[in-house]
Amino acid sequence: MLNLQSKRGCAFRCVYCPYPHIEGRKHRLIDPQEVARTALELEAAGAKYLFLTDSAFNSDIEHSLAVAKAFQKARLSIPWGGFFAPVRLPADYFTVMADAGLAHVEFGTEALSDIMLKNYRKPFRVQDVFTAHEQALDAGLHTAHYFLLGGPGESADTINESLEHREQLKKTVTFYFVGIRIYPGTGLYDIALKEEKINAATDLLQPVFYEPDLITQEQIDKMVTERAGNRINWIVGSGGARAAETVSKMHTRGYVGPLWEYLIR
Ligand code: SF4
Repeated sequence: MLNLQSKRGCAFRCVYCPYPHIEGRKHRLIDPQEVARTALELEAAGAKYLFLTDSAFNSDIEHSLAVAKAFQKARLSIPWGGFFAPVRLPADYFTVMADAGLAHVEFGTEALSDIMLKNYRKPFRVQDVFTAHEQALDAGLHTAHYFLLGGPGESADTINESLEHREQLKKTVTFYFVGIRIYPGTGLYDIALKEEKINAATDLLQPVFYEPDLITQEQIDKMVTERAGNRINWIVGSGGARAAETVSKMHTRGYVGPLWEYLIR
């Protein structure tokens, strides 16, 4: 599995995210033909799978469609995946992507509570997530959703809401990360400063995680773990050492790609 980037920068403003600060808010697009040429070179060099490392591949919908069409025209024959934001998309968006070889959609969903999506300044709401999910399923794609719990305003109610809504997502796998690291240059940094959870002298090279006022990370972790029960498609964290070992074994046996599709239920 090799990596490929079709642009740098992210125009979204998610409250916790340092990428717009690191890569810029303005997209710097790579010519789709050039991205496709590089993809073919990687395939020729032995890549069995490509991961599009753009912060969100569809943050420029038009460009992402042009890249997919360039892959198809170049007859790229290996599958690929990437990070997608579950924003409102053209009805045939994922069909075009699937026709171009997209196999895995990793949605940066983060929460399924409109209160938290608003607090996180995400460019979508719960209903948009459901719609994007259905569109991806209809196109025959594997989907995963990543959750980031414990931001400003998180409470037992918002966690319950996110978990209840999660039950409505069929045929998927969900990864839950509890606790959000505070990075300089983010909205979360400003909030934490204002709430006096950090001060200007706090050393953020050592990880500092935002602590919501209404619930602790331990309580969130307990709620998610209890709700997950023994369902293998609800993964708290990245799955730990055991999951890493299984993935590594599967790669040795010739399986390619992110492999979470084997957990989809
Ligand atoms: S979380 Fe993803 S979509 Fe949001 S600002 Fe960061 S890179 Fe962009």
